[in-house]
Amino acid sequence: MSLVQSIRDIDISGKKILIRCDFNVPMDEFQNITDDRRIKSVVPTIRYCLDNGCSIILLSHLGRPKGIDEKFSLKPVAKRLQRLLDRDVIMATDVAGNSAKTEAAKLKKGDILLLENLRFEKGETKNDEELAKELASLADVYINDAFGVCHRAHSSVEAITKFFSNNAKAAGFLLQKEIDFQQNLMKKPIRPFVAVVGGSKVSGKLQALNNLLPRVDKILVGGGMAFTFLKARGYEVGNSLVEEDLIEEANNIIKKAKELKVKFYLPVDVIAAQTFSADSVIKIVTTQEIPSDWMGLDIGPATVRIFKEALADAQTILWNGPMGVFEFDKFSKGSIKISHAISEAHATTIVGGGDTADVVERAGNSDEMTFISTGGGASLELLEGKELPGIRVLRIKEES
Ligand code: AMP
Repeated sequence: MSLVQSIRDIDISGKKILIRCDFNVPMDEFQNITDDRRIKSVVPTIRYCLDNGCSIILLSHLGRPKGIDEKFSLKPVAKRLQRLLDRDVIMATDVAGNSAKTEAAKLKKGDILLLENLRFEKGETKNDEELAKELASLADVYINDAFGVCHRAHSSVEAITKFFSNNAKAAGFLLQKEIDFQQNLMKKPIRPFVAVVGGSKVSGKLQALNNLLPRVDKILVGGGMAFTFLKARGYEVGNSLVEEDLIEEANNIIKKAKELKVKFYLPVDVIAAQTFSADSVIKIVTTQEIPSDWMGLDIGPATVRIFKEALADAQTILWNGPMGVFEFDKFSKGSIKISHAISEAHATTIVGGGDTADVVERAGNSDEMTFISTGGGASLELLEGKELPGIRVLRIKEES
């Protein structure tokens, strides 16, 4: 298979560069950006282009507007970028219309232009070639640095690459890093390789679990999905989240783990409550003793200890999915303690999924992880072993 071409592999000096970014940042009701990690993570690619005497046109979507809607304007992003880069960012008032074309034509070396929200154009999500052609006509080179959208065949991600020759399209530094850490590491991990998987449902992670099984040495399962496995093992789990239709599949996964000699860990105790709410009364119970009208909403302290021991000899750790309902303080301890344990491990540690990245941030461990992926859905699809459309179109470099 060909390799993904990197921005370093092509000549960009003095050229006009289109960079597809993922500026889909969370905002409050007053359009204040509440988390700018996604903006910050594209800065190295922008700076590299500036160092090479380029002019830059940035593309991104934000939210899911139905047509043009000021609430979804990228103006707040332009402002934040301006501050992060300490230089002016010109804002176009449309995506591929008069404003974008006029501003793009005027760009001089070192200028930065941000186009309006790509989703103001209906064609974007339809992988429309006309829109792709219009966007491509604005610049000489196309760089994709938006890992978070690579699992979508959208106009600015997939179709657009048809309008650039092989020496004029590549992955930016962020995308390259995502591929190196997540995809390449899965192929040749240093062992023991431990996967920590959580989140709400088995159904959401079924394909990922099946893809991970033959690759890892241990799997630690927490979160709501653990209860379908526990039920499959014959435990009574009360009102905990269970997917009845996946009980047989859960048993198959446990059986397959055994055949492959993968150590499969489930919680031994949980933090249980009678209601799904932040202020419910809680108790710690073993998984053998969950009362029929209670539900498990986090892993318990004994599970944390066992998971910690299982992580102790790991050389590579992949974490995707919280261990409990971390949005409520009372049920966030399990996730936070596992975050500490992973960050302290002398291992390569890779965190995927938006919720898990939030837990790590809250736990104050972000700087201690080897790599935190910026893409939720895209990370999961990589874990599932899928080739993402946005990455496939950049596999144009022959392996040496
Ligand atoms: P996912 O989107 O599948 O990665 O799951 C993330 C969600 O799983 C978070 O919003 C958590 O609140 C939720 N979650 C984790 N543990 C549990 C649990 N024991 N019961 C119900 N929901 C859970």
